Amino acid sequence: MRLQHKIALVTGAAGGIGRATAERFAEEGAIVFAADVRAAEPYEAPGVTFVELDVTDEPQWQRVAGEIVSEHGRIDVLFNNAGIVKAYDGVAEIALEDWRQVIDVNLNGVFYGCRTVIPVMRENGGGSIINTSSIWGIAGAAGVAAYTASKAAVRSLSKNVALTYIGEGIRCNSIHPGLIATPLIDAQDDDVTAAVLAQTPIGRLGTPREIANGALFLASDEASYVTGAELVIDGGYTAQ
Ligand code: NAD
Repeated sequence: MRLQHKIALVTGAAGGIGRATAERFAEEGAIVFAADVRAAEPYEAPGVTFVELDVTDEPQWQRVAGEIVSEHGRIDVLFNNAGIVKAYDGVAEIALEDWRQVIDVNLNGVFYGCRTVIPVMRENGGGSIINTSSIWGIAGAAGVAAYTASKAAVRSLSKNVALTYIGEGIRCNSIHPGLIATPLIDAQDDDVTAAVLAQTPIGRLGTPREIANGALFLASDEASYVTGAELVIDGGYTAQ
């Protein structure tokens, strides 16, 4: 029970990595609020409650955090995981609307989450924030301009939060998944997936649970000396 008595909020938790992590956290004793902009199928793990949240809307963050705090008094773990790819275009081709939407979900959503939950954690002596970046927040990739820019910004913002709030017991780390079998990958061009897989030394896609296990470590007190770090879980992609 590595998260016993902890209250956790996970975004993008209707499917994929977020859903697997919400269930993994609950298996380890956490009370989990699984947030998404779309409805979720029922969760298998007891202790997971779905909440509707569009991460791009700060008032919705305030509402959700307020409800959790009034019920449980605190939030110990925030996993800012919601993300979209939307467009695979380069800077010259991407529609402005797509650029703005990707930045809004992937970067501004993380900003609003941190901004809302840091005061709650501060009030309670600390907590753990985990932000989902990507291998493409570290390594470059052709095309996918908005996605790569947003994920690199999340990597940097995570270190900023880590350093700014270290004196208040708040840890903040980024997770960098490689190619993980989720609906996000199902929706992308097979050519893109094949190209990334060909560059993945382990030779297979990762599972959402393999990312959830990393998030679990960062969420738990086992990671009490870990802040401002990048946890890469990518089958060797960025080791090359
Ligand atoms: P996914 O599409 O299965 O899950 C993403 C979830 O985010 C969806 O349930 C979606 O409804 C939700 N979401 C989208 N916009 C939202 C919003 N405005 N508010 C709240 N929720 C919203 O994809 P996934 O692969 O599980 O992705 C999870 C995270 O991992 C994302 O940040 C993604 O960029 C990142 N990531 C994924 C991979 C991969 O290979 N799957 C690789 C690197 C990084």
